[in-house]
Amino acid sequence: MRLSRFHLSTVKEIPADAEIVSHKLMLRAGMIRKLASGIYTWSPLGLRVLRRVETIVREEMNRAGAIELLMPSIQPQELWEETGRWAKFGGQLLKIRDRKDALYCYGPTHEEVVTDFARNELKSYKQLPVNFYQIQTKFRDEIRPRFGVMRAREFLMKDAYSFHATQECLASEYRNMYDAYSRIFTRLGLTFRAVDADTGAIGGSASHEFHVIADSGEDAIAFSTGSAFAANVEKAEAVAPAVTRPAPAATLETVDTPTQKTIDDLTAFLAVDATQCIKTLLVRGRDGLVALCVRGDHEVNEIKAARLDEMPGESVLADEAEIVRALGCKPGFIGPVGLPDSIPVIVDRSAAVLADFVCGANADGKHLRGANWERDARVTRIADLRKVVEGDPSPDGEGTIALARGIEVGHVFQLGTKYAEALGATVLDDQGKARVMSMGCYGIGVSRIVAAAIEQNHDEAGIVWPEAMAPWRVVICPINLAQSEPVRAAAEALYDELATLGVEVALDDRGLRPGPMFADAELIGIPHRIVIGDRGLAAGTYEYRRRGESENRTLSRDELLALFA
Ligand code: ATP
Ligand code: MG
Repeated sequence: MRLSRFHLSTVKEIPADAEIVSHKLMLRAGMIRKLASGIYTWSPLGLRVLRRVETIVREEMNRAGAIELLMPSIQPQELWEETGRWAKFGGQLLKIRDRKDALYCYGPTHEEVVTDFARNELKSYKQLPVNFYQIQTKFRDEIRPRFGVMRAREFLMKDAYSFHATQECLASEYRNMYDAYSRIFTRLGLTFRAVDADTGAIGGSASHEFHVIADSGEDAIAFSTGSAFAANVEKAEAVAPAVTRPAPAATLETVDTPTQKTIDDLTAFLAVDATQCIKTLLVRGRDGLVALCVRGDHEVNEIKAARLDEMPGESVLADEAEIVRALGCKPGFIGPVGLPDSIPVIVDRSAAVLADFVCGANADGKHLRGANWERDARVTRIADLRKVVEGDPSPDGEGTIALARGIEVGHVFQLGTKYAEALGATVLDDQGKARVMSMGCYGIGVSRIVAAAIEQNHDEAGIVWPEAMAPWRVVICPINLAQSEPVRAAAEALYDELATLGVEVALDDRGLRPGPMFADAELIGIPHRIVIGDRGLAAGTYEYRRRGESENRTLSRDELLALFA
């Protein structure tokens, strides 16, 4: 591509409403332009990158045996009524009325449409398994569209839906898709993790999210340094320490702690470590208050707490008035010793192995030292209650937990028969009996991947594309193009030769000065830059620089071409 004929439109100013680096760089590089909140035009430059992602996704889906189709983006209300999602989907569903007053929605996802297609097309178990996919524009009326195409309202998704006669067959296709996704993100050159998004026990996974690791990610992920284990921080199990509780050694004593209400105040005042303290929270249980005890350096995980039998499905802290009424003390002085019998005491696994610990005395201005479970404090139950922290043992027994932030770029899900049942999608089995099909669904945020890749790959000067996603692999930057015939001839010759080799190459023939020309090449993130100038030509050399490196290399023509052979 000759850049003089391409619409490249970079800007220096940092856009005021862009918060994260990918949004800023996509606007500065001129990849996207906003039309309305969460709705963007992809410029020719942006589209080149989007298409690269799309191509890799399509190739790997095809390789995995999925079949491409294209479904409508506008979907009728009646179909959504059949699954009950017209009402349930909520505000994200953009509803549209046509001239006959019939209601439609702009598709946020396609389970209904694909299952309708399947119930009409698939008649026999012999047509199964089958996996239909499309790459198509979705609309979700997000409450807070932000970060450019990262959380847009209109965005490009690859969505696939598989149909099966048996659950085993679904499980095997799920694995196949999981592997295809791993190949896609590997080929794109991204650092990613497949995160167990199952709500149940580890192992019986029916859902995984694929996350690109980046500090700006909305999701907190816990992963093992020694295995493939990865889970949402909220869901990661905190395993029981491999130690047994020591026998009580200290006697129980009350200490005055007039103003020490927090763990930090307390540990400083009593010169004890937070790991020797018990932090107790009172929450509203199903039948009255419940006490949750974790170690002083740990935090209660509200999602885990909400799932306890004693809890009503959510975890809400008791307010000060409730605490005073139940215990006669203020929130900073609660402890497990001497709690009324009506309050269950749920103790985290790590807190349960402590002996001779410090805790609140259930009296204002007082704490206890030398407290022990069983001897002094009742334990109703030991449970996994806390958030995992860096360095915890991995739940699968291999390696330790590390924490990172991630951007969800893909999601695979075993749906089972939910949609097929609602829409009556059956096939005849080998006995001629109608059977409801099992389904899987598999999404990839194609447009979000572009932003996620930039979050992971950028520097001061701009985007640093992984090779597979770059709009062009190489940019040729001729110096003094208008004045020097040898430079022009050499640039044209190299451009033709690289193009003949099948290399995606851009020739910057816009006649810019070197500074702005190099700045653009760096901003838009081209992996390889070749500078051609009179002096180098006289010596038969070219100046080469890899994006992300700070040194130029002087290469002969053969050495240069060898880089792209
Ligand atoms: P999120 O939790 O980020 O809202 P989701 O769980 O609602 O996503 P899915 O229904 O699993 O998303 O959709 C499949 C993929 O589509 C997601 O993994 C994500 O990469 C992408 N995606 C979802 N919502 C958006 C959006 N508003 N803008 C861009 N991409 C999106
Ligand atoms: Mg999801």
